Amino acid sequence: MKLILLGAPGAGKGTQAENISRHYSIPTISTGNILREAIAAGTEVGLKAKAIMDRGELVPNDVVISLLKERTSQPDCANGFILDGFPRNIAQADALEELGIMIDRVISIEVEDGAIVERMSGRRTCPDCGASYHILYKPADNDSTVCTSCKGKLIQRPDDAPEVVLSRLKVFHDQTEPLKEYYSKKGILKLVIGQEKVEDTTRLTFEALA
Ligand code: AMP
Repeated sequence: MKLILLGAPGAGKGTQAENISRHYSIPTISTGNILREAIAAGTEVGLKAKAIMDRGELVPNDVVISLLKERTSQPDCANGFILDGFPRNIAQADALEELGIMIDRVISIEVEDGAIVERMSGRRTCPDCGASYHILYKPADNDSTVCTSCKGKLIQRPDDAPEVVLSRLKVFHDQTEPLKEYYSKKGILKLVIGQEKVEDTTRLTFEALA
């Protein structure tokens, strides 16, 4: 099964991707995480991407498309995968088709801008493994500053700062949201209304996949 999770930054795509990934034993591919790993490793791609990401803008299509192509050709993707954060615009969606990647289902997690801004201020991320938490809605297990999975020290991502969140939301509405119509026309789009409680959104997401 090949799935796309659409939604504003902070809508809960990463969390739902984790649940689906566990349930169907298929990997999640987050281009944001791949780019953050490249930044941490100090690669050429990372150096190019960092300033763009810190401003909340999109990294050039050729860069992310080539990362995606490389990642989806790895053996663990043979039975399918979940795309979290890709495609971000129509050109990237067209690129998936050109690569011969046929998507079975697209789930758009719908959350209003006001709620997004509030959620992002509480989001904490593990720079070591990419896990994502929220100080109120999804706290780390024992110590709220330490990653439950790998014990890394949690941080607030630079692009989760309030002024950057507003630019990311603008980019989302201008460039990513048109993908809903794109996939709706193909008859594979399902909307999930993001709920206050993560487990309620999870239930609706699995209903949308059934
Ligand atoms: P995310 O973790 O998905 O919120 O992505 C964080 C940042 O990485 C975005 O704001 C973009 O700067 C960059 N990024 C991630 N995925 C893409 C993509 N598919 N196309 C362009 N830029 C991306």
